[in-house]
Amino acid sequence: MKLYSPATIKDIRERYGFRLTKSLGQNFLTDKNIIDNIIEASNIGENDLVIEIGPGIGVITKEAAAKAGSVIAVEIDKNLIPILQETLADETNVKIINRDILKTDLTAVIEEEKKNFPQMENVRIIGNLPYYITTPIIMKLLEDGVPADSITVMMQKEVADRIKAAPGNKERGALSVAVQYYCQVVKVTDVPKEVFVPAPKVDSTVLRLDIRKEKPVELKDDKLFFKAVKSGFAQRRKTLLNSLASGTGLGKDKIGQILEEAGIDPGRRAETLDIDEFAKIANGMFEMNL
Ligand code: SAM
Repeated sequence: MKLYSPATIKDIRERYGFRLTKSLGQNFLTDKNIIDNIIEASNIGENDLVIEIGPGIGVITKEAAAKAGSVIAVEIDKNLIPILQETLADETNVKIINRDILKTDLTAVIEEEKKNFPQMENVRIIGNLPYYITTPIIMKLLEDGVPADSITVMMQKEVADRIKAAPGNKERGALSVAVQYYCQVVKVTDVPKEVFVPAPKVDSTVLRLDIRKEKPVELKDDKLFFKAVKSGFAQRRKTLLNSLASGTGLGKDKIGQILEEAGIDPGRRAETLDIDEFAKIANGMFEMNL
């Protein structure tokens, strides 16, 4: 029986008395093409460490193990651990960690693994993410500076559309600018809801986030950059002058001066700005000692 077939999931549920937990975002993949898309896009080499978030019953894990030097799979649901031990019994290069990814220090996990696997080259993070915490997971990985090369993950299409939105796109928001600051975003494929058991309410998209080795802009102070981005988008319908003035608490005179010096029309909306323009605003705030 194929691991990714609905019949296998049924068999496992019966044999282990396993109950799907909706609140943990348990929608299991049943389509080999999509699994292959994730694996191919993540470009796993034989000296790579793969970290998988939320392995479920191990359908992606198994394919990753065939390509990677080592795989570490982080799964929160303790009821899935004996199942994974069975489905991955033949994969000697897989470690399963029963933990909440949001409470896991992945940098420490990677450092520890390097001791066993000194020839490690790239670190590839992969997964079919639990939808209820897609954004917190991605932002934690990026803000913690986890030493990974790429993150290839499935998420709800609507979140993927926001993450990849370019300047001028109405989906563009603080999430787009933050993720694009840390990564180059590549769309891998859209995924219909019918390929999951149980089927979620929304369609999905696989994105690959290639983590930048060097930041795309020079910032005098990262915190001011994120403050400018957050404030700019806090009142999306307002002009940049108004949203930044109230969001940063700096008032219109100072913000007006910063925008003028940056050569940015104060009547624009935040979603039209690129990363470079937000950086100019943040560096202008820094120069004013704000
Ligand atoms: N990879 C499997 C697949 O594609 O069939 C399962 C994907 S399912 C969408 C998400 C998985 O993440 C579930 O196995 C769920 O138990 C697990 N999960 C949910 N919250 C988690 C967390 N905070 N930390 C680690 N795993 C979590």
